[in-house]
Formats: sequence, structure tokens, C-alpha cells
Amino acid sequence: MSAPDRYAVIGHPVSHSRSPFIHERFAKQTSQKLQYTTIDATPARFATVVTEFFAGGGKGLNVTVPHKQAAVALAQDLTPRAARAGAVNTLSLREDGSLVGDNTDGAGLARDLLNNLGITIAGRSVLLLGAGGAARGVVAPLLGLKPRELTIANRTPAKAVELARLFADMGDVRGCGYPGLRNEPKDLVINATAASLKQQLPPLPPGIVDTRSVCYDMAYGREDTVFLRWAQERGCTRTAMGLGMLVEQAAESFFGWRGIRPDTASVLAALKVELARES
Ligand code: NDP
Repeated sequence: MSAPDRYAVIGHPVSHSRSPFIHERFAKQTSQKLQYTTIDATPARFATVVTEFFAGGGKGLNVTVPHKQAAVALAQDLTPRAARAGAVNTLSLREDGSLVGDNTDGAGLARDLLNNLGITIAGRSVLLLGAGGAARGVVAPLLGLKPRELTIANRTPAKAVELARLFADMGDVRGCGYPGLRNEPKDLVINATAASLKQQLPPLPPGIVDTRSVCYDMAYGREDTVFLRWAQERGCTRTAMGLGMLVEQAAESFFGWRGIRPDTASVLAALKVELARES
């Protein structure tokens, strides 16, 4: 009997990742024989660990915080969406031994917002917090949904300004630091910072959310994140964690690896049950 194909998610930290749970269920549902694990690698060890994984027979990696931008340099080819984002969340081994880098984050976020949560983006004001690997992957898909305006705010303001400049051809987008944010409510605020992983909150002006705002945190866990609790304290009733995005981007990666599109609704439901059981 042949050994199962090997896949993993690589990040630092990565122990919180639910990707193994999701991919195991996708594999079962589609009768694919594969093994999916987590790999913790510091930035200093990232390139070596990736090289060893594929040299040892690994077929594909999901790349998570903080390696998405570093992963670009390890791929011999990039899909157009990964090249545009300058960030890779999926590495796949090709027959000739080379690696192709893709970015499925934007497709995952768009599907979650539109299909799972029924949120309208067209004509709305959107604020994206963060300018790291995850933020880079979602700017083009967000602008493709035609918001009225997109503001990118980041702790290091220059990164937000640069990110906005890169996508200025796609719509009304500007970048700034947190002090540069106008203290007025946005229709949708998406937290793409890694602050939630450390139970921290970016220094947000209190007036950027009100009762009509939708607040989305790409981070996820058993309980609402600090950012979502902050929004709820300001009267925001429509809040969501990035569980749906996680499942949708995983399905897109799985499709790239195995050529089969798994059903996401049942796996998202199972993941929610699992988190509720643990808490
Ligand atoms: P990166 O390390 O590439 O970027 C981190 C970003 O967060 C940077 O913009 C950084 O700002 C900012 N940041 C970090 N700490 C703080 C803080 N204390 N206060 C304010 N800003 C902070 O990480 P990723 O972009 O890859 O991941 C970001 C988050 O998104 C993570 O929580 C990750 O788990 C989540 N994610 C979820 C996905 C999902 O499917 N649900 C998919 C992808 C990511 P600076 O530039 O100034 O350092």
C-alpha cells in the first residue's frame, strides 16, 4: 500500500492552527489519501525547513503568519494573484520538482463575506487593519468587489501607504498609520493584524465603528477576539471571526493540490461544533 501524500501548514506560532482539522475532513469527504500536519518554523529556519519538507517527499504547504512574504522567494513560479499580492499562502510541488506559489486568502475572504455571511461590499466604506502577508492577499479581491473606498491602516504606516500605492489602479484606496485614521464609522472593518494572536488591540479611534458597522477578525479562536469584543462594546452587533475564511481558503488550496473542490459548509459547521465543545 502506498504512503499517503504529505501536506502541512508552516508558521510561527502554528499550534493554534485548525488547518489539520479542516484538511483531514476534506480528504475524508473526497476519498483522498493524505496526511496533514503542522510545522513550527522561526523566520530564521523557514527556508531550510521548507526545502527539507519538499526534499523529503512533501507535496504541499500552507504558509501562515509570519512567512507569507518570505515564501514568495522560495517559489520558482507564482500564480498571477500571488504575484500581485507579493505574498504566498500555498506552495505546491510540481512534477518537475519546482515549487509554485499561490495565494488563496483573498478568494477565501471574499467567499466568506459574500456567500457565508451575506455581507455587501459594493458601494461601502471598508477599513483594513494591517499590511502584512494576510492583508496583501486580500486587497485586490476586496477592491474587485467595488467598495466606495478602502483605507489600509498599519502600525508601521509606510507599509500601508506602499500597499495602497501598489493597488491604486484598482480603486479608491489609501494607506495610513492609526493616528491618521478619520474618527468616523466604517461600514466594514477587517482586522488583518497579528495583534489578536497576542490578545492585543491596535490603537483604534473609538468612532470608527457604530451600530451599523460589520467587524471581521481574520484571527479565530474559541472565544471572540479582543478586537471583536472592543467593537461589541461600541454597539456593533455584526461581528465574525475568520473561521469561514480559513475553511474557504483551505478549500481553494485543496483544489489546487488535489483537483477536487470539497464542500465547505459541512466542514465549517463541524469546526464550529469542535470549538464550542472545547470551550
Ligand atoms: P504578518 O506577520 O505577515 O503581518 C502581521 C501584521 O500585523 C502586520 O501588519 C503588523 O504590523 C501587524 N501587527 C502585529 N502585531 C500588532 C500589534 N500588536 N498591533 C498592531 N498591529 C500589529 O501576519 P499575517 O498577515 O500572515 O497574519 C495576520 C493575521 O491574520 C494573523 O492573526 C493570522 O492568523 C490571520 N490570518 C487568518 C486567515 C484565515 O484564513 N482566517 C488567513 C490569513 C491570516 P507591522 O507591519 O507594523 O509589523
